[in-house]
Amino acid sequence: NVDSALFKAKNSGREGFAFYDHAQTEHARQRIELIAGLRHALENEELRVHYQPLCRLDDGQMVGVEALVRWQHPQRGLVPPGEFIPVAEDSGMINAIDAWVLEHACRQMVAWRAAGSPLQFVAVNISSRLFSRGELDQRVARVLAQTGLPADCLELEVTESAVMDDPDQAQALLERLRSLGVRLAIDDFGTGYSSLARLKRLPVQKLKLDQSFVAGLPDDKDDRAITRAVIALAHSMEMNVLAEGIERVEQQDYLRELGCDYAQGYFIGRPVPADALKLT
Ligand code: C2E
Ligand code: MG
Ligand code: MG
Ligand code: MG
Repeated sequence: NVDSALFKAKNSGREGFAFYDHAQTEHARQRIELIAGLRHALENEELRVHYQPLCRLDDGQMVGVEALVRWQHPQRGLVPPGEFIPVAEDSGMINAIDAWVLEHACRQMVAWRAAGSPLQFVAVNISSRLFSRGELDQRVARVLAQTGLPADCLELEVTESAVMDDPDQAQALLERLRSLGVRLAIDDFGTGYSSLARLKRLPVQKLKLDQSFVAGLPDDKDDRAITRAVIALAHSMEMNVLAEGIERVEQQDYLRELGCDYAQGYFIGRPVPADALKLT
């Protein structure tokens, strides 16, 4: 309880004043439990990869899928990444998780290709933590060699903030990755602070417009302006644009009208396990 924690803190012989409250200790305890649980999940194959369609807007063709991790927790059921990725990032465990997802997604893509699927690529999210370590290209080269997946069947998604944190280092790494032949996309575009001079030089083929700007389409004036601007910017740099988070037909129609290239969202298809994906 709070009083006895305070009492102990005051009498710990230190100068000054320490204050522990119950909520903080409870939070710390939950965090430690989550880290232990995640470690267990990695060792015991409790992680799952779901796949969400990425479609061309002009003809509706599904050209790729995005791999999205989930945790099949024995008690809590299917846990979404928002509930464990942040802790995995702080604790450094994200590197092992991203490596696991990368390998799984590549193996799955090899299997789809062997089954005659017309899918062009699988997209995998790379945390800023793994990205900033700088040896991602070696890891990717190894996974491609081990799985036999052609490099252009893999797309890596890195966030705008991961790139702009250390633009020189990021530029060098993206160039090494690009020379392997993999596709590169900037995820959640519009939520970070891009230097346009830098963006122009990145060897990136796609900007993924963050879903927060798609949410207000087609009615919200600001979202309309931002969406138009991002599409024009991407096209002027010879990049494609994908709009995330399309939930309604009006959003899809409006984006198609504006000349947006690709679309992703619940309206088109939710993330599902590999065997539930309709490959046409
Ligand atoms: P993201 O990379 O921007 O992925 C898109 C997220 O938007 C996914 O959430 C997807 O389910 C969700 N989404 C797609 N369409 C719609 C829609 O129409 N409406 C709404 N409201 N949401 C939609 P999810 O799967 O919960 O993943 C959340 C985030 O967790 C991802 O955002 C990504 O940043 C991260 N993440 C997921 N898998 C991985 C992974 O393997 N490694 C790393 N480092 N991060 C991952
Ligand atoms: Mg993504
Ligand atoms: Mg995204
Ligand atoms: Mg997003």
